[in-house]
Amino acid sequence: MENGKTISFLLMHKAIIKLDKKKKTMIKTMTKWKTQLKNFDAMLEEFRRKREEQELRLRFNRSALSVSDIAEQYYCEKKLEMEFVHGEIETEAKTMGSAAHEKLIEDAVEIKREALWKKIYGEEPVLAVEMFILGKCQDLFLVGKPDAVMFYKGRPIVIFEFKFSKSGIAYPSHHVQAQTYGLILENMGFDTSRLFYAIVVADPKTKGDPKLQRKAIDAIFNKGFEESILSTDDTNIHLCKFHLSEAQESLQWAIQFWKQKRAATPTTNPNKCAKCEYQTQCQNRIP
Ligand code: SF4
Repeated sequence: MENGKTISFLLMHKAIIKLDKKKKTMIKTMTKWKTQLKNFDAMLEEFRRKREEQELRLRFNRSALSVSDIAEQYYCEKKLEMEFVHGEIETEAKTMGSAAHEKLIEDAVEIKREALWKKIYGEEPVLAVEMFILGKCQDLFLVGKPDAVMFYKGRPIVIFEFKFSKSGIAYPSHHVQAQTYGLILENMGFDTSRLFYAIVVADPKTKGDPKLQRKAIDAIFNKGFEESILSTDDTNIHLCKFHLSEAQESLQWAIQFWKQKRAATPTTNPNKCAKCEYQTQCQNRIP
Protein backbone atom coordinates (compact mmCIF):
# COMPACT_ATOMS: atom_id res chain seq x y z
CA MET A 1 0.00 0.00 0.00
CA GLU A 2 2.75 2.35 1.05
CA ASN A 3 4.62 1.59 -2.20
CA GLY A 4 1.43 2.14 -4.19
CA LYS A 5 0.88 5.47 -2.56
CA THR A 6 4.47 6.47 -3.16
CA ILE A 7 4.22 5.44 -6.81
CA SER A 8 0.94 7.33 -7.20
CA PHE A 9 2.43 10.34 -5.50
CA LEU A 10 5.51 10.13 -7.76
CA LEU A 11 3.33 9.83 -10.86
CA MET A 12 1.23 12.75 -9.73
CA HIS A 13 4.36 14.70 -8.93
CA LYS A 14 5.78 13.95 -12.43
CA ALA A 15 2.50 14.97 -14.01
CA ILE A 16 2.58 18.27 -12.13
CA ILE A 17 6.18 18.87 -13.24
CA LYS A 18 5.15 18.04 -16.84
CA LEU A 19 2.19 20.43 -16.62
CA ASP A 20 4.44 23.09 -15.12
CA LYS A 21 6.93 22.68 -17.97
CA LYS A 22 4.16 22.95 -20.57
CA LYS A 23 2.78 26.02 -18.81
CA LYS A 24 6.24 27.57 -18.60
CA THR A 25 6.87 26.90 -22.33
CA MET A 26 3.49 28.43 -23.18
CA ILE A 27 4.19 31.48 -21.02
CA LYS A 28 7.69 31.77 -22.53
CA THR A 29 6.27 31.59 -26.09
CA MET A 30 3.54 34.04 -25.22
CA THR A 31 6.01 36.47 -23.70
CA LYS A 32 8.34 36.09 -26.67
CA TRP A 33 5.78 37.09 -29.30
CA LYS A 34 4.49 39.96 -27.20
CA THR A 35 8.02 41.25 -26.58
CA GLN A 36 8.90 40.83 -30.24
CA LEU A 37 5.78 42.67 -31.36
CA LYS A 38 6.46 45.44 -28.84
CA ASN A 39 10.00 45.84 -30.21
CA PHE A 40 8.64 45.89 -33.76
CA ASP A 41 6.09 48.59 -32.91
CA ALA A 42 8.81 50.63 -31.20
CA MET A 43 11.02 50.35 -34.30
CA LEU A 44 8.10 51.40 -36.51
CA GLU A 45 7.47 54.38 -34.27
CA GLU A 46 11.16 55.37 -34.39
CA PHE A 47 11.10 55.09 -38.19
CA ARG A 48 7.98 57.30 -38.48
CA ARG A 49 9.39 59.91 -36.11
CA LYS A 50 12.77 60.10 -37.84
CA ARG A 51 11.10 60.29 -41.23
CA GLU A 52 8.88 63.17 -40.11
CA GLU A 53 11.83 64.99 -38.59
CA GLN A 54 13.70 64.39 -41.84
CA GLU A 55 16.55 62.72 -39.99
CA LEU A 56 16.86 59.95 -42.52
CA ARG A 57 18.10 61.23 -45.80
CA LEU A 58 19.46 58.95 -48.46
CA ARG A 59 19.96 59.41 -52.19
CA PHE A 60 16.80 60.70 -53.91
CA ASN A 61 15.53 61.84 -50.51
CA ARG A 62 14.68 58.30 -49.52
CA SER A 63 14.11 57.62 -45.83
CA ALA A 64 14.34 53.81 -46.06
CA LEU A 65 15.66 51.16 -48.41
CA SER A 66 13.01 49.00 -49.96
CA VAL A 67 13.88 45.40 -50.73
CA SER A 68 12.52 45.68 -54.27
CA ASP A 69 14.88 48.63 -54.93
CA ILE A 70 17.83 46.61 -53.62
CA ALA A 71 16.86 43.75 -55.95
CA GLU A 72 16.66 46.17 -58.87
CA GLN A 73 20.18 47.39 -58.10
CA TYR A 74 21.34 43.86 -58.81
CA TYR A 75 19.49 43.88 -62.16
CA CYS A 76 20.83 47.24 -63.32
CA GLU A 77 21.57 50.00 -60.84
CA LYS A 78 21.64 52.56 -63.64
CA LYS A 79 18.07 51.64 -64.54
CA LEU A 80 16.96 52.18 -60.95
CA GLU A 81 18.62 55.61 -61.06
CA MET A 82 16.85 56.40 -64.37
CA GLU A 83 13.51 55.61 -62.74
CA PHE A 84 14.17 58.20 -60.03
CA VAL A 85 15.53 60.81 -62.44
CA HIS A 86 13.10 60.41 -65.36
CA GLY A 87 10.14 58.79 -63.62
CA GLU A 88 8.89 55.25 -63.87
CA ILE A 89 7.70 54.16 -67.32
CA GLU A 90 4.83 51.70 -67.28
CA THR A 91 5.51 48.62 -69.42
CA GLU A 92 3.29 45.69 -70.31
CA ALA A 93 5.52 43.34 -68.28
CA LYS A 94 5.19 45.53 -65.15
CA THR A 95 1.41 45.77 -65.49
CA MET A 96 1.05 42.03 -65.99
CA GLY A 97 3.40 41.33 -63.06
CA SER A 98 1.34 43.48 -60.67
CA ALA A 99 -1.90 41.88 -61.83
CA ALA A 100 -0.44 38.40 -61.28
CA HIS A 101 0.63 39.28 -57.73
CA GLU A 102 -2.83 40.69 -57.04
CA LYS A 103 -4.28 37.32 -58.06
CA LEU A 104 -1.90 35.47 -55.75
CA ILE A 105 -3.25 37.28 -52.70
CA GLU A 106 -6.90 37.08 -53.72
CA ASP A 107 -7.74 34.36 -51.19
CA ALA A 108 -5.68 35.84 -48.36
CA VAL A 109 -7.55 37.04 -45.28
CA GLU A 110 -6.49 40.39 -43.89
CA ILE A 111 -5.70 40.34 -40.18
CA LYS A 112 -4.29 42.81 -37.70
CA ARG A 113 -0.61 42.68 -36.77
CA GLU A 114 -1.20 41.39 -33.24
CA ALA A 115 -3.43 38.57 -34.48
CA LEU A 116 -0.83 37.62 -37.09
CA TRP A 117 1.98 37.51 -34.53
CA LYS A 118 -0.16 35.32 -32.30
CA LYS A 119 -0.78 32.94 -35.20
CA ILE A 120 2.93 32.90 -36.12
CA TYR A 121 3.70 31.64 -32.62
CA GLY A 122 0.80 29.19 -32.61
CA GLU A 123 0.98 25.43 -33.04
CA GLU A 124 -0.19 25.41 -36.67
CA PRO A 125 1.88 26.47 -39.70
CA VAL A 126 0.80 29.82 -41.06
CA LEU A 127 1.39 31.43 -44.46
CA ALA A 128 1.78 35.19 -44.07
CA VAL A 129 1.04 36.81 -47.43
CA GLU A 130 2.48 40.25 -48.18
CA MET A 131 3.39 40.81 -44.55
CA PHE A 132 4.94 44.22 -43.91
CA ILE A 133 8.43 43.75 -42.50
CA LEU A 134 10.83 46.37 -41.17
CA GLY A 135 14.42 46.06 -40.02
CA LYS A 136 17.39 48.19 -39.17
CA CYS A 137 20.90 47.76 -40.46
CA GLN A 138 23.55 50.13 -39.13
CA ASP A 139 21.62 53.43 -39.15
CA LEU A 140 19.34 52.49 -42.06
CA PHE A 141 15.80 51.21 -42.13
CA LEU A 142 14.89 48.38 -44.49
CA VAL A 143 11.30 47.76 -45.55
CA GLY A 144 9.68 45.02 -47.57
CA LYS A 145 6.69 42.83 -48.30
CA PRO A 146 7.68 39.29 -49.24
CA ASP A 147 5.11 37.52 -51.45
CA ALA A 148 4.65 34.94 -48.69
CA VAL A 149 6.43 33.57 -45.63
CA MET A 150 5.60 30.21 -44.08
CA PHE A 151 6.01 30.26 -40.28
CA TYR A 152 5.89 27.31 -37.93
CA LYS A 153 5.89 27.66 -34.14
CA GLY A 154 7.37 31.14 -34.27
CA ARG A 155 10.04 30.36 -36.85
CA PRO A 156 10.08 31.48 -40.48
CA ILE A 157 10.75 28.31 -42.50
CA VAL A 158 10.27 29.35 -46.15
CA ILE A 159 10.16 32.73 -47.88
CA PHE A 160 8.32 32.53 -51.22
CA GLU A 161 8.98 34.86 -54.13
CA PHE A 162 6.93 34.40 -57.31
CA LYS A 163 8.35 35.41 -60.69
CA PHE A 164 6.80 34.92 -64.10
CA SER A 165 9.12 34.00 -66.96
CA LYS A 166 9.41 31.30 -69.59
CA SER A 167 13.14 30.86 -68.82
CA GLY A 168 12.53 29.22 -65.43
CA ILE A 169 15.78 30.85 -64.25
CA ALA A 170 16.25 32.49 -60.85
CA TYR A 171 18.55 35.48 -61.39
CA PRO A 172 20.96 37.01 -58.83
CA SER A 173 18.53 39.89 -58.21
CA HIS A 174 15.84 37.34 -57.21
CA HIS A 175 18.23 35.68 -54.73
CA VAL A 176 19.23 39.04 -53.25
CA GLN A 177 15.57 39.99 -52.83
CA ALA A 178 14.69 36.79 -50.94
CA GLN A 179 17.90 36.91 -48.88
CA THR A 180 17.25 40.51 -47.84
CA TYR A 181 13.79 39.53 -46.62
CA GLY A 182 15.52 36.84 -44.53
CA LEU A 183 17.93 39.41 -43.12
CA ILE A 184 15.03 41.65 -42.08
CA LEU A 185 13.22 38.74 -40.42
CA GLU A 186 16.40 37.95 -38.48
CA ASN A 187 16.63 41.63 -37.53
CA MET A 188 13.03 41.52 -36.28
CA GLY A 189 14.06 38.85 -33.80
CA PHE A 190 12.97 35.71 -35.65
CA ASP A 191 15.14 32.61 -35.58
CA THR A 192 16.34 32.15 -39.18
CA SER A 193 18.71 29.26 -38.49
CA ARG A 194 16.48 26.82 -40.42
CA LEU A 195 15.16 29.27 -42.98
CA PHE A 196 14.95 28.44 -46.69
CA TYR A 197 13.74 30.61 -49.52
CA ALA A 198 11.91 29.49 -52.64
CA ILE A 199 12.04 31.44 -55.88
CA VAL A 200 9.09 30.15 -57.84
CA VAL A 201 9.62 30.92 -61.53
CA ALA A 202 6.39 30.10 -63.34
CA ASP A 203 5.38 30.27 -67.00
CA PRO A 204 3.55 33.59 -67.65
CA LYS A 205 0.53 31.55 -68.76
CA THR A 206 0.03 30.52 -65.10
CA LYS A 207 -0.49 34.15 -64.05
CA GLY A 208 -3.63 34.34 -61.95
CA ASP A 209 -3.67 30.58 -61.29
CA PRO A 210 -4.94 30.33 -57.69
CA LYS A 211 -3.34 26.87 -57.36
CA LEU A 212 0.22 28.07 -57.98
CA GLN A 213 0.97 28.86 -54.35
CA ARG A 214 -0.46 25.54 -53.17
CA LYS A 215 1.53 23.66 -55.84
CA ALA A 216 4.79 25.28 -54.71
CA ILE A 217 4.14 24.49 -51.04
CA ASP A 218 3.22 20.86 -51.81
CA ALA A 219 6.30 20.36 -54.01
CA ILE A 220 8.60 21.60 -51.23
CA PHE A 221 6.97 19.58 -48.46
CA ASN A 222 6.92 16.40 -50.60
CA LYS A 223 10.58 16.69 -51.51
CA GLY A 224 11.84 17.89 -48.13
CA PHE A 225 14.02 20.78 -47.11
CA GLU A 226 17.22 20.58 -49.12
CA GLU A 227 18.74 22.87 -51.71
CA SER A 228 17.23 21.86 -55.04
CA ILE A 229 15.39 22.92 -58.19
CA LEU A 230 11.97 21.32 -58.24
CA SER A 231 10.43 21.28 -61.69
CA THR A 232 6.84 20.78 -62.69
CA ASP A 233 5.50 21.12 -66.26
CA ASP A 234 5.33 24.91 -66.14
CA THR A 235 7.21 25.95 -62.97
CA ASN A 236 10.73 25.81 -61.53
CA ILE A 237 11.02 26.13 -57.76
CA HIS A 238 14.52 27.13 -56.69
CA LEU A 239 14.78 26.10 -53.05
CA CYS A 240 17.83 27.56 -51.29
CA LYS A 241 19.10 27.74 -47.71
CA PHE A 242 19.21 31.24 -46.27
CA HIS A 243 22.68 32.42 -45.25
CA LEU A 244 22.79 35.60 -43.20
CA SER A 245 26.41 36.42 -44.14
CA GLU A 246 25.58 36.36 -47.89
CA ALA A 247 22.61 38.64 -47.32
CA GLN A 248 24.73 41.07 -45.30
CA GLU A 249 27.39 41.15 -48.00
CA SER A 250 24.88 41.91 -50.76
CA LEU A 251 23.31 44.63 -48.66
CA GLN A 252 26.64 46.34 -47.99
CA TRP A 253 27.23 46.81 -51.73
CA ALA A 254 23.72 48.24 -52.19
CA ILE A 255 24.06 50.66 -49.26
CA GLN A 256 27.14 52.32 -50.80
CA PHE A 257 24.95 53.66 -53.61
CA TRP A 258 22.24 55.01 -51.31
CA LYS A 259 24.81 56.74 -49.12
CA GLN A 260 26.21 58.42 -52.26
CA LYS A 261 29.57 56.73 -51.83
CA ARG A 262 29.65 55.64 -55.45
CA ALA A 263 27.87 56.25 -58.76
CA ALA A 264 25.25 53.89 -60.20
CA THR A 265 26.72 50.74 -61.74
CA PRO A 266 25.26 49.92 -65.17
CA THR A 267 24.65 46.34 -66.27
CA THR A 268 27.20 44.57 -68.46
CA ASN A 269 24.49 42.47 -70.10
CA PRO A 270 23.49 43.82 -73.57
CA ASN A 271 20.25 41.78 -73.50
CA LYS A 272 19.01 43.90 -70.59
CA CYS A 273 19.78 47.10 -72.52
CA ALA A 274 17.99 45.78 -75.61
CA LYS A 275 14.69 45.59 -73.73
CA CYS A 276 15.22 48.57 -71.42
CA GLU A 277 12.64 51.37 -71.50
CA TYR A 278 15.40 53.96 -70.87
CA GLN A 279 17.72 52.96 -73.70
CA THR A 280 17.25 56.27 -75.57
CA GLN A 281 18.23 58.34 -72.50
CA CYS A 282 20.93 56.09 -71.05
CA GLN A 283 24.53 56.90 -71.85
CA ASN A 284 25.69 53.55 -70.53
CA ARG A 285 23.55 51.53 -72.92
CA ILE A 286 25.43 48.65 -74.51
CA PRO A 287 24.61 48.83 -78.22
S1 SF4 B 1 20.12 50.93 -71.13
FE1 SF4 B 1 21.23 49.28 -70.15
S2 SF4 B 1 22.65 50.25 -68.74
FE2 SF4 B 1 21.16 51.78 -69.35
S3 SF4 B 1 19.61 51.70 -67.75
FE3 SF4 B 1 18.93 50.35 -69.37
S4 SF4 B 1 19.67 48.33 -68.81
FE4 SF4 B 1 20.79 49.80 -67.59
